[in-house]
Parts: sequence; C-alpha cells; structure tokens
Amino acid sequence: MSELKRPRKRVILCQDGSPFVPQYPGGINIEKCTGCSECVEVCPQNCIELKEVEGKKVAVITKLELCIGDGFCKIVCPEDAFL
Ligand code: SF4
Ligand code: SF4
Repeated sequence: MSELKRPRKRVILCQDGSPFVPQYPGGINIEKCTGCSECVEVCPQNCIELKEVEGKKVAVITKLELCIGDGFCKIVCPEDAFL
C-alpha cells in the first residue's frame, strides 16, 4: 500500500526561536487615527494610504491582499488605532 504524501508543515521562527504568528490588521479605527502617517511609512508592502474620510485625513488599508502580517503598522501606531 502506498503512503499518501502529506504536505509538510512549515514554521517560521523569530530571532528568539519562538514561532512567527502573523499579525494581520483587522482594520483601523478612524476615530482614533490622527493621520500621522507612521503606519504608511513603515509598511513594507505599501498596503496603507492616507485618505480623506468624513472630512479628516486618516489611514486606510487599501491593499490588504499584499499584507504579510509583520504587524509593523500596529506596533508603530501611537494611537493604538489598529483593530
Ligand atoms: S502587517 Fe505589515 S504588511 Fe501588513 S499592513 Fe501592517 S505593516 Fe503592512
Ligand atoms: S499610525 Fe495610527 S494614527 Fe498614525 S496614520 Fe496610522 S493608524 Fe493613523
């Protein structure tokens, strides 16, 4: 009987040896966002843009499909605006 080949599980490790857990943003709270653009500048995939929403410049995730889940945007946001 031939053995079925199962896909191998791959785990990416962080520098401290712990498994990498993707930190995909779930959205941005525009009430908290001040439009400082820190998240726009830090995103390596250019997923986030500043846009005018309800008369206020705020960060909007425009290309979530390119997000690699590094979580940099959440880390740098001084307003804790990421969901
Ligand atoms: S998690 Fe990383 S790639 Fe995704 S939107 Fe935030 S900074 Fe960009
Ligand atoms: S870092 Fe936070 S406050 Fe600044 S633009 Fe991005 S979501 Fe808004």
